[in-house]
Amino acid sequence: MEKLQDEFDLSYIFIAHDLSVVRHISDRVGVMYLGRFAETGTDEEIYEHPTHPYTQALLSAVPVPDPAAREQRERILLYGDVPSPADPPSGCRFRTRCWKAQEKCAREVPALAVPAEFRDRAGPAAHPSACHFAETLPLARPAPQHVRQGGPSDPHGSGETPEPGGRRDG
Ligand code: SF4
Repeated sequence: MEKLQDEFDLSYIFIAHDLSVVRHISDRVGVMYLGRFAETGTDEEIYEHPTHPYTQALLSAVPVPDPAAREQRERILLYGDVPSPADPPSGCRFRTRCWKAQEKCAREVPALAVPAEFRDRAGPAAHPSACHFAETLPLARPAPQHVRQGGPSDPHGSGETPEPGGRRDG
């Protein structure tokens, strides 16, 4: 693919669930949930400085080969089922599985835009994120007390990527 890209000056749209492969092949990345973009940016912005909870949860499930790094990192587990795209939740589509959800999330659809707190700062966190409470997530952050009920599930149906959300495990 890369050879063809160089030869014919092509652009690809590459759709995949394997985030390691996506990073390898992509210059720009868009993370989607229930048919809408949750976050977009360069590969470095998305992989090193994700600000949307769904992206953070997905990335926390990517296998890490280095055992020391693996022990240090937090795992975010998502609970609950993926809602039907035919009848999505009001407001933010991710809210039924998001550990940060608040009342505003049910009332207002978050725009895909650079979050206000990052707007005046140049840096990799200043990229579009469809979240009312977008923030970067320090790796060593303690697990929140609130835990959603239900069991973990895999929204992609691959059985390989544990779904993020609700609780973080070390
Ligand atoms: S808008 Fe609310 S529910 Fe949606 S991702 Fe952000 S914090 Fe979670």
